[in-house]
Amino acid sequence: MYTIELYKQCRQCPRKCGVDRTASTVVECPQGRIETTANYSIGFCREPADLRIAFAGLHFGEEPLVTVFGGSGTIFFTGCTLRCAFCQNYQISQDGFGRAVDCAEFTDICLRLQAAGAENINLVTGSHHIPKIAEYLRAARDAGVTVPFCWNSSAYESVEMLELLKGLVTIWLPDLKTMDSAFSKKLFAAPDYPDAATAAIKWMIENNPLEIAEIPEPPNAKPAEWAEPGQPRDKMMSGVIIRHLFMPGHFAETADVLAWLKENADGRAIISLMNQYTPVPFEEDSQKLAARTVALSSIENRLVTAEEDADIRDLIEAYDFEYLFYQELTDDTSWLPDFRRPQPFSNKLATPVWHC
Ligand code: SF4
Repeated sequence: MYTIELYKQCRQCPRKCGVDRTASTVVECPQGRIETTANYSIGFCREPADLRIAFAGLHFGEEPLVTVFGGSGTIFFTGCTLRCAFCQNYQISQDGFGRAVDCAEFTDICLRLQAAGAENINLVTGSHHIPKIAEYLRAARDAGVTVPFCWNSSAYESVEMLELLKGLVTIWLPDLKTMDSAFSKKLFAAPDYPDAATAAIKWMIENNPLEIAEIPEPPNAKPAEWAEPGQPRDKMMSGVIIRHLFMPGHFAETADVLAWLKENADGRAIISLMNQYTPVPFEEDSQKLAARTVALSSIENRLVTAEEDADIRDLIEAYDFEYLFYQELTDDTSWLPDFRRPQPFSNKLATPVWHC
């Protein structure tokens, strides 16, 4: 089937909205770069058939196997199939910040990231555009992009669509947010999230065995707190890193996720447990804020405490995962991005290459 056919009666993700995303009009906002859409049936992701991007740059905050020396070449897409109430990237995932790019511009962005030293091209939240991204990735390869492609998503995806990325994407960074369908219904209106995400992650693991290469330090390498200067670093060439964000006050949900991971992923994928949950200072109209506040009332919207962090450490020690990343607890929230700026992150965390 032609790519564009998959945007008519769109059923690309488990939402299966059935809307025609090709009948869309994207309107530039006169007050700034935030675009709105009009004159088309809106699916849950709120995105037309145009592929839209907000930011691209080298990112130094991914797991060391993905950041390595040169940083991960992140491309942040506009829109999302999940739209979590607590999303730190809400400006692009929910509020439409971004600009449409065609295949030639997408390829150019990938080439610029590679030329800037990117270890991989990291496609952030593209689940609502898999057919088009697959087509553009093939064009980017033909144009000389040689670094691995990396898929960075909520895992709320259909296996049928993931098949389109088979052989193109070799590094997968899916979330596994919860195994509790009542919880996923409250926070992102997706009671089927646990079933969909676990099926997607199983497919990723089956199709992408772990492959890690040792890379010597290049000249002018950027120092990293987690690495010895002058030493080689490990680089992921293929495989899956499954991320889980601990939600304050929701220890039981994390225990359920870790139990599933122990049974289904240990030894075959890398587990990355994150404790950086941070309340976001949303800047939105009162209607949007009111809806968000209702959803957020089902969680304790605060930082993780030292006591909770200690409990999680005890839990992961008991599970004894073969490959595990776990962050140091910090109360530094300066990493929260603002995508309206050409540099949405701190200079330490990212180097911009393209902004919408
Ligand atoms: S990709 Fe968007 S429009 Fe298509 S089914 Fe998913 S949420 Fe609906």
